Amino acid sequence: MDKTTGTTSSGTPASDEGPHTDVCVVGGGPAGLALALMLLRSGVRVTLLEKSARFDRAFRGEILQPGGQRILGDLGVLAAARAAGACELNGFQLVDRDRVLLDIDYRRLPAPYRHLLAMPQRHLLDALLERCRALPGFRFLDGHRIGALVEEDGRITGAVAHGPGGRRTVRARVVVGADGRFSKTRALAGIGAGRVEAFEHDVLWFTVRAPGRQTGYVRIHRTAGNPVLVHDSHPDRLQIGWTLPHRSWPELAARGIDEVRRELTTALPQFADLIEDSVSDLSDLSLLDVYAGKADAWTRDGLVLIGDSAHTHSPLGAQGINLALQDAAVLHPVLVAALRDGCVDQARFAPYLETRMPAVDVVMRMQQMQAKGMFGTGGPVADRLRSGVARLIRHSPLGRKITHRVAYGHPVVEVRTDLFTTGPTARAERTGGPKG
Ligand SMILES: Cc1cc2nc3c(=O)[nH]c(=O)nc-3n(C[C@H](O)[C@H](O)[C@H](O)COP(=O)(O)OP(=O)(O)OC[C@H]3O[C@@H](n4cnc5c(N)ncnc54)[C@H](O)[C@@H]3O)c2cc1C
Repeated sequence: MDKTTGTTSSGTPASDEGPHTDVCVVGGGPAGLALALMLLRSGVRVTLLEKSARFDRAFRGEILQPGGQRILGDLGVLAAARAAGACELNGFQLVDRDRVLLDIDYRRLPAPYRHLLAMPQRHLLDALLERCRALPGFRFLDGHRIGALVEEDGRITGAVAHGPGGRRTVRARVVVGADGRFSKTRALAGIGAGRVEAFEHDVLWFTVRAPGRQTGYVRIHRTAGNPVLVHDSHPDRLQIGWTLPHRSWPELAARGIDEVRRELTTALPQFADLIEDSVSDLSDLSLLDVYAGKADAWTRDGLVLIGDSAHTHSPLGAQGINLALQDAAVLHPVLVAALRDGCVDQARFAPYLETRMPAVDVVMRMQQMQAKGMFGTGGPVADRLRSGVARLIRHSPLGRKITHRVAYGHPVVEVRTDLFTTGPTARAERTGGPKG
């Protein structure tokens, strides 16, 4: 193998030299941008590859837990992201006809993060990117897809990107794969996605115009047919996720939009007028294949995976963004130390794995329980069990603890603002907050 130029994971020599950097982050989602900002503020040079040229994404994670809000607050970007538009929500409710079966009330949490935020993901990404752009050492290659990894003696030393200007090789001391659930970086590194079929449903997403009809909650309605998830969405809309049995959508879609709309309005009669108004074509609906996954490995020499590329979750517990931001916050000091010491062997990334793998396992188990609790039928015994759990969560100190864990994860992840050497004063936005 050519030790000077390296070879790409597709076997061709790496050429078309582009920027040399400390860290090449692949993917400008919540995980990649948050990590880029933390590293830049710690004096680390970052090149970010992002395949899209714009952040205007429909049907991406919108609900932000208090744990994620706190991390963004510590980074000084929460206020800007909120100012672009967001809705505060009181919590989660499971509703069967008119009866609230389960009520996870975030107003029981300590200030200042006593709510969920429904925020278009582009507001969050724009705010993070703007901060990154203001810092030295940042290079943003938007419209660039990763096509190969550069390897030297089994170690990852860069990435080859394809973009409007052609092919570019980015040399880096570490490559971070933050390119989401279908991660190309993960595949190029020969790491399996670890897909687990833990859920028996897919979700069909759409939004409806709903001025004056917002609810202040994330609600799962179990009225008739398949459960439906509904939450406020900025501006003046409701985002709706209709759960369907796995792989049943093609057969239903083949029956045409009128039949689909009839089923939707039956499942959600209280919003039938809004659905009639806003859903006129099958292309107004977007199907999400729901599965969980935990990649077979998260690190190699010179390579780390974070966020959805390392672990993918059902959207129903609204944990994906939280976990992605937490991964970034935990990896940040690990990378700063490894780069400072000049050693980016896989073993140096162990503290990241030791903290994040158990936290992700807990969320995966919790989501499987949630799916059973919310979607399972199981008759009167299951219903009695559900209302027992609901009472526990609503009234007991244990319920407050459970709400705290859902909101923040355990242990609570702190941003290591003490490592910041540039940017505005750390923690400027936070006025208090839990230690968990
Ligand atoms: C419909 C839906 C609803 C959801 N709802 C919620 C919710 O309410 N709350 C919540 O917390 N989570 C939710 N999630 C999950 C959440 O969106 C993800 O967990 C979160 O976005 C993960 O962040 P990430 O940065 O790891 O990956 P992503 O957000 O997927 O970002 C990956 C980035 O990598 C880029 N990329 C991909 N391939 C390449 C490539 N080859 N080269 C360069 N760049 C590339 C992508 O364009 C993207 O910008 C939802 C997910 C879906 C699909």
